Amino acid sequence: MTDNEREKNEAPEPQEEPGEPLPPYVIEAARSSRSRCKSCRRAIDKGSLRIGILSEGGFYGPGYMWHHLGCAARRQWEKVEEAYAQEAWKNAKQPPGKLPGLDELRAQREKAEEKRAKRKELPYVEEDPSGRARCKQCGEPMEKGSLRVVVGKDVTFGNQTRTGPMAVHPRCVKAALEQPDVSTELEGLREALLENSGLPEERIDAVMREIEGSAS
Ligand SMILES: [Zn+2]
Ligand SMILES: [Zn+2]
Repeated sequence: MTDNEREKNEAPEPQEEPGEPLPPYVIEAARSSRSRCKSCRRAIDKGSLRIGILSEGGFYGPGYMWHHLGCAARRQWEKVEEAYAQEAWKNAKQPPGKLPGLDELRAQREKAEEKRAKRKELPYVEEDPSGRARCKQCGEPMEKGSLRVVVGKDVTFGNQTRTGPMAVHPRCVKAALEQPDVSTELEGLREALLENSGLPEERIDAVMREIEGSAS
């Protein structure tokens, strides 16, 4: 379902009285469970904190794009700062009882950012984003959306050696790890992939089975 279809399927929430210009932001406790977070795409439960960012061109005319307040803090920080500066909770029908302070949201955001950065530590598993890359081991294309393993490969510039990413099919990992310049090791690989990938254990284990079932 595309976003547009989803919007058509979701009945709009009652807006403010017609004719009154809508303020650019609203921060409130969700009045129903019908809205969906535009950041994480999950439902916003009734009573949880959400921020509405006014959009002029919605399907039903001007309306709010809702986000969990925490999601917006992670992905649209400037808007959250603006909304706080404007005290956007005053635009709510029922102002929320307790709001996290801007400092608290900033700390949450920094923590999420750190986690994201950490995820890029090698080695990790990820879904192939484009379907355009080829496996650096066998040279065959990697299917868009399929899981690939990114291992560490040493690259030397002058007298400096750095570890760079090398993406391969799970079935090609064993062969890749035998290359002398690949620094990732099979020992401890499962733990490292779990730690760095941010993917559910089942998916990592499925990849591990593919790795272990392949010939080196
Ligand atoms: Zn969300
Ligand atoms: Zn391959």
